[in-house]
Amino acid sequence: MGIEIIMQLETPEGCLLVLSLQSSSDKASILSILQVLGDLLSVGTDRRIHYMISKGGSEALLQTLVDTARTASPDYDILLPLFRLLAKVGLRDKKFGQKALELEALDVTLILARKNLTHSQNLLHCLWVLRVFASSVTTGAMLGINGAMELLFKVISPYTRKNTQTIRAATEVLAALLKSKSNTRRAVNRGYVTSLLRLHQDWHSHDTTNSYLQIRRGLLLCLRHIVTLRSGREAFLVAQGMETLFTIAQNCLDDKSMEPVTSALLQILRQCYPESPLPLVTVSSAYVFPVPGCSSSEPPCTLTEEDLEDDGDEEVDQDTDSKDVREEDDDLETDVDKLSSEPGLDRPEGELIQYEAMCHELSDSFEELASKFGDVLNFEDTQHANHCHIPSAASPPQHCFNTDQSWRQEKEDVVQTSILNMVKAGKATMHLYSKNRPIMKLCQSVQQNGLGTDSPGTFDTKAFLEEDAWNIEEISCPSINVFFSNSCKPRETDERISKLLHTHPRHIPFHDPCLYMAKTRKTRSVVDFKMMAFPDLWGHCPPPTAHSMLDRKWGIQRIKILEDIRRFIQPSDIVNKVVFSLDEPWPSQDSDFNCLRFSSTFESGNLRKAIQVRESEYDLLVNADVNSSQHQQWFYFKVSGMRAAVPYRFNIINCEKPNSQFNYGMQPTLYSVKEALLGRPNWIRTGSEICYYKNHYRQSTAATGGTSGKFYYTLTFAITFPHNEDVCYLAYHYPYTYSSLMTHLDILEKSINPRQVYFRKDVLCQTLGGNPCPLVTITAMPESKSADHLEQFRHRPYHVITARVHPGESNSSWVMKGILEFLVSNDPVARLLRENFMFKIIPMLNPDGVINGNHRCSLRGEDLNRQWLSPQAHLQPTVYHAKGLILYLNSIGRTPVVFCDLHGHSQKKNVFLYGCSMKETLWQAGCAAGGSALVEDVSYRMLPKILDKLAPAFTMSSCSFLVEKSRAATARVVVWREMGVSRSYTMESSYCGCNQGPYQGLQFGTGELEEMGAMFCLGLLILELKSVGCSPQLLAQATTLLNANEDTLDHHLQRCLDSSKFSSRNMSELDDEPPCMEEIDYIGDNSSDQEQIFSELDKQIQEYAFNKNKGQEDEEGTGRQRRAIP
Ligand SMILES: [Zn+2]
Repeated sequence: MGIEIIMQLETPEGCLLVLSLQSSSDKASILSILQVLGDLLSVGTDRRIHYMISKGGSEALLQTLVDTARTASPDYDILLPLFRLLAKVGLRDKKFGQKALELEALDVTLILARKNLTHSQNLLHCLWVLRVFASSVTTGAMLGINGAMELLFKVISPYTRKNTQTIRAATEVLAALLKSKSNTRRAVNRGYVTSLLRLHQDWHSHDTTNSYLQIRRGLLLCLRHIVTLRSGREAFLVAQGMETLFTIAQNCLDDKSMEPVTSALLQILRQCYPESPLPLVTVSSAYVFPVPGCSSSEPPCTLTEEDLEDDGDEEVDQDTDSKDVREEDDDLETDVDKLSSEPGLDRPEGELIQYEAMCHELSDSFEELASKFGDVLNFEDTQHANHCHIPSAASPPQHCFNTDQSWRQEKEDVVQTSILNMVKAGKATMHLYSKNRPIMKLCQSVQQNGLGTDSPGTFDTKAFLEEDAWNIEEISCPSINVFFSNSCKPRETDERISKLLHTHPRHIPFHDPCLYMAKTRKTRSVVDFKMMAFPDLWGHCPPPTAHSMLDRKWGIQRIKILEDIRRFIQPSDIVNKVVFSLDEPWPSQDSDFNCLRFSSTFESGNLRKAIQVRESEYDLLVNADVNSSQHQQWFYFKVSGMRAAVPYRFNIINCEKPNSQFNYGMQPTLYSVKEALLGRPNWIRTGSEICYYKNHYRQSTAATGGTSGKFYYTLTFAITFPHNEDVCYLAYHYPYTYSSLMTHLDILEKSINPRQVYFRKDVLCQTLGGNPCPLVTITAMPESKSADHLEQFRHRPYHVITARVHPGESNSSWVMKGILEFLVSNDPVARLLRENFMFKIIPMLNPDGVINGNHRCSLRGEDLNRQWLSPQAHLQPTVYHAKGLILYLNSIGRTPVVFCDLHGHSQKKNVFLYGCSMKETLWQAGCAAGGSALVEDVSYRMLPKILDKLAPAFTMSSCSFLVEKSRAATARVVVWREMGVSRSYTMESSYCGCNQGPYQGLQFGTGELEEMGAMFCLGLLILELKSVGCSPQLLAQATTLLNANEDTLDHHLQRCLDSSKFSSRNMSELDDEPPCMEEIDYIGDNSSDQEQIFSELDKQIQEYAFNKNKGQEDEEGTGRQRRAIP
């Protein structure tokens, strides 16, 4: 039978070449056509090959193969170049396997391979083509049925230096075939697991010069596919695979050239490390709170081994390329109705009147204005010395310790350090300062200082700590005293604290330990915490220098994973002792000096269990959010009983997010009590050997309600504590508790000059847990109670700022702290802002979550930032009333100019805003219909553009203005759509730090976050100056102010003010993150693997052709052996 296929190909010269491959035609013409095709495709791009495929090229070549092979004595002069072409074309044709199957090319190729078992050159060509056929899983399954695997095992021999190219190709074909589950099952049944392990061990032990890494890798790839099946894993364990490969992996670890082998080894070991449930009685939170509308009677599910379902054993072989890739854009909202602004009410209009009481500023007649604050001098003498503090990363450290600073002195400081001096370019100097000065190592400082030698005063710190006199756990919240009246009395507690403060004088702006203690007495937690964490009580100052991001040590993750696997293989040094647990009693630690002591039953603390694994290694589990069985990411706990200079390894083994900034330079934070008492009350970034990866723990299917079990991730880090027998605190990020906020607000209120600053604290509502949720109003007092002045006062536009709806995002509280302190400060910019705006601020939308150590949710176990569409007063009170307040402002014609909800971001660096744009969303989603006709005010882009120029940490390039369906119930989208606030934002601050701007390469400290808050306020002023409706008076005042600062004012700022020149700078989208050098998951990404294998195959064929032209075949590897083609 003769099939004629005509191919028209564009030659490099641009003419059309018509080729005709016809069966049974003469050898000479077929050869010349193959020659031309080979030449064409070898110089051309993939486009040319794809064109040829689209014109039936694959079929023509396959048909020629079948016809040629079926002759009585196949002609290898034709077959060899044909095989090379088939491999090259086949690699790019996704349907190639299917076409080969239909044209019966599989059988003829297998037959040719069998005939040529002793003829390595011919065999190699057959293997290349089989490799391409096998890239389709269904075709691979068919090859398996026809005996391909047995054939390959005849080719793959123990170590030899002969025919290694062929052996390599055979291992690669086998690996490809084993992607088919039916082949894998066959392989397990025939005992191939043992054979492959022996082969690999043989090659490993003989190949001492690492000349045949590709063969060793090929064998491992075969095993890797087999162990995706449960039966494969079982066979692997029975064959002592873990022990064998573990030993090999340990030998390979330090050798970078072994990379291809090492990564495959690790993947197999991780896959075969038996899965197990978390060592917890239940994954549900240890804390339960009876809340309305919650089925709290949910039975705790006990985890058993049997619950762990096998995930990999699907019966049907499926080609991966048939799966549709779900586009990210699918989540974009494309329904114009749902994007359109819709002024509407989710509650009866009459209810809104209750918020009138929270807007007292609108009705106050300020009768007392003239007389009450007449005596200014007296006021100044009596106030706290805090109110001039400008939150700044550059705050001089003496701020923290100098108690002698008078109010006036600080006032002078402030005038010199107006925020205008700190805009982007100006900050660059601070950056250099940080960069050039090596970060002080805790240990060094300790060695230099010597413990106790620089202790302020005569107080004996050591003795103090040892005698446990101050044990803050016993310094208690009041509730304990009510119930345990014979224990520590509040008075005694106060005395202890006073003694401590007296002997360790320090001053931290906006903090007061005694007030903090008083505040904790009113804070209500679910399980009635009876302790305070020392750092929250004592206070924190940003350390004088910023911390660089941690450089990731090469191969660190592998080392950690092998250490984990060693527990399974060499359990001799495993202690496995529970040393702390919320759920069960554990042996008393008092007498045990060989282990650390843990605790976290204090505000925002959430350690659930600690297990000593090895002498200085601990597995830690954090509590799930209250009334939930998930969201473990935040951690905050106390550790004591340590020895100095010993690296302790901590593994938090039940993290949930699939990746983390801990893989990209972020470190956890540490607070040492001894350091604090030595005058360094700082949370610092610390820890080494940090990585974050998927572990072998798995949630049972029963616990997830039948859906496939969830994976967990390990965050591991090593800490070397600075002192012996210290008490230290470790946290995910700088803690900021609810009691800290309440303390802070009190001090702020006392610190302001009430003649100038209008500062009012209201209670927005009570939370479900019974804590008041504060609402703060800040503006300037009216100049006088004259009608004009009151008129001006009452008509100031509103800005609404909220934060900490997600409790684990403590970074947002530090930004909020910066905003609050700046707004009440004496900075001229702050004064202008107060005189022209009213600020409505809800600094903590989820107090209960913060108090109880949640990461994400409220006491009902729900994400409050998904409740804004229809919140209910008795279920989500803070959201209900926050929305109510904005609805009220809306209803009286006082819609906020800007709404911003502050958050923290765990995956990205820098600070950025998310906004809402209907037009950008439709455009991005490819909806031409909505896009062009639509008119949209683009002013939502102005504030982020301004911040990009002002704030060192901020970057426009990460901002997005797309509206996603999944975000329809967030504050940002609801305030934008229902209240018509076009400038409605979410501000995201990285947990880590910056990869651009003056802070590039630095992790955030609290100073940088607070500075961001101040910069945000300055941004609001500039935004107003640039708006059309800006009052001439404000413009004049601002111009004077800005000109006065001209010397120090960054020229960026000038450009900001000059609208005509305002254009966004050329911003290349920063990649979210470079890919992690080592895989987070068990199994590496198969698709990139595939591409790599293909490009390698291409290379092999090319090298072959090249050497053939030279008349020689170079053996793969060292090249020591050369032989002629047989
Ligand atoms: Zn958030």
